[in-house]
Amino acid sequence: MSVYIGNHLSSSGGFLAMGKAAMALGADTFAFFTRNPRGGAAKEIVPEDAEALIKLMKENSFGVLVAHAPYTMNVCAAKEDIREFSRNMLKEDMARMEYLPGNYYNFHPGAHVGQGSDVAIPLIADAVNNALTEDVHTTILLETMAGKGSEVGRTFEEIRAIIDRVELKDKIGVCLDTCHIWDGGYDIVGNLDGVMREFDDVIGLDRLKAVHINDSKNEFNTHKDRHELIGKGFIGEDALKAVVRHPALQGKPFILETPNDDEGYALEIKTIRSWMV
Ligand code: FE
Ligand code: FE
Ligand code: ZN
Repeated sequence: MSVYIGNHLSSSGGFLAMGKAAMALGADTFAFFTRNPRGGAAKEIVPEDAEALIKLMKENSFGVLVAHAPYTMNVCAAKEDIREFSRNMLKEDMARMEYLPGNYYNFHPGAHVGQGSDVAIPLIADAVNNALTEDVHTTILLETMAGKGSEVGRTFEEIRAIIDRVELKDKIGVCLDTCHIWDGGYDIVGNLDGVMREFDDVIGLDRLKAVHINDSKNEFNTHKDRHELIGKGFIGEDALKAVVRHPALQGKPFILETPNDDEGYALEIKTIRSWMV
């Protein structure tokens, strides 16, 4: 039984530095923002730096990486300028990801800000179709959301509706965030198998590519989205252990997004590794 495990790392020192930082924490995958998460400005990529990371990952049997789009991205925004800015960012990020081919790029489907999901879903799919071309070697992942505000992607049905409209089906998948689905109303504490079955029925487990493993500061179904340290929140250690050990999730990259420093991440990575036996 094994999954890949890592956490969000700062990309300020470049690619190879992230690979080394991951190894220092005991990780064999990691997440990083493709650009400033709150702004959107992107640093120049040094091709040799990307190649050095690819080499390090190969030599140390890393799993697939899970890049994260900036929070400012909202491809279904009501305002056209925000929508255009976001669509362009998504497209540009696909070009940037080509320096690290074969990895994942996770993004929040977006907030419909009053337009309703019916309007938002085709806009999201259209932005993905605009970004994905035959020569893209990245799989875009839609992240399951908590349903805070007007977030799209709280229900498996909404995620499915977006995927249905994506043209290049081999380049679209889902990243399951444990804090988000718990806050969003999927009871992974009381009925993990049932939730996984529902995911399979509605979306298909073959689309589930990565996991954000977080505990939650909130009780079930509160639609809030506040991450907690592993084992310290309302999801708890037993339920998170069952997620790590779930047969459908073996071999996937698991990313910690817990409120932590390096020492805390190293400890959580160690704990999660101890669950893999
Ligand atoms: Fe996220
Ligand atoms: Fe997440
Ligand atoms: Zn979150």
